[in-house]
Amino acid sequence: MKNLKSARERLSERIQFLHHEAKKSLGQNFLVSDHVIQKIIEAAKVTNENNLIEIGPGLGALTDFLVIQHTNYTAIEMDHKLSEYWKDQGLSVVEGDALKIDWSNLTAKLLVSNLPYQISSSIVIDRCIQPFQIETMILMFQKEVAQRLRAKQQTPEYGMLSVIAQEFWDIETVCDAGPKDFDPPPKIASRVLKFKARATDVTDRAGYLLFVKSCFQQRRRILKSNLPAAMTEKLMKWIEIKKLSDKVRVEELSPVQIRDLYFFITRN
Ligand code: SAM
Repeated sequence: MKNLKSARERLSERIQFLHHEAKKSLGQNFLVSDHVIQKIIEAAKVTNENNLIEIGPGLGALTDFLVIQHTNYTAIEMDHKLSEYWKDQGLSVVEGDALKIDWSNLTAKLLVSNLPYQISSSIVIDRCIQPFQIETMILMFQKEVAQRLRAKQQTPEYGMLSVIAQEFWDIETVCDAGPKDFDPPPKIASRVLKFKARATDVTDRAGYLLFVKSCFQQRRRILKSNLPAAMTEKLMKWIEIKKLSDKVRVEELSPVQIRDLYFFITRN
């Protein structure tokens, strides 16, 4: 990794230059841990992939390295002043909300972000149901959200987010980060995850999301009560074939079993 000034030095220089005050509403907890930054940059070294999108470059903790490592860099930044700053540095910037902009014009296969916590789950769901070119993502989450994303069935963290994310991505942990790794420090612990796109037979991704959502409407209820009445007959048949209890709850089923049930209901 290229030797730059420490993250704290780079942050304080830019804060002074821009007279910037961190905006809580935009989740501006800037990374100041050189160790965590190094872990993210290492994880973002994907062979033959120079096209990269970063959500929220902020004051450049990751950006300074990413633009060296990846020749074709695009930022999505909602903060007008920061967006203008990076444009002035010659970077390609889409100013706007990463949840609202049109991603279909972006061609990168790699997405990296110390995500603002308030949009992190929605960004993952969007990247699951909008089938397009991104193949690898390195993303920072609130630790609880990271645990939900990787959770297995029969655990308290398991839910709709786990099933959807694990259907479309292989997910591994890159590293953890504590409050002192950020400025200003958040009250929560964080975790960085790496996502690799998985091959999947699910073609109607939005339809699958709706199905999984209805399965988890009330996760403690038996599955039969969560699904629409029109699906009951097929559900009961599937339960019989799989030799499961007719009182089975969705939290007992793995992502693979839920996908199998979805195909059984929609294809038969
Ligand atoms: N990458 C920098 C770092 O690691 O220090 C900043 C990360 S900070 C947690 C989140 C960044 O995302 C901020 O720059 C913030 O302005 C930007 N941001 C917040 N909400 C956004 C949204 N909906 N779309 C795009 N950028 C957003």
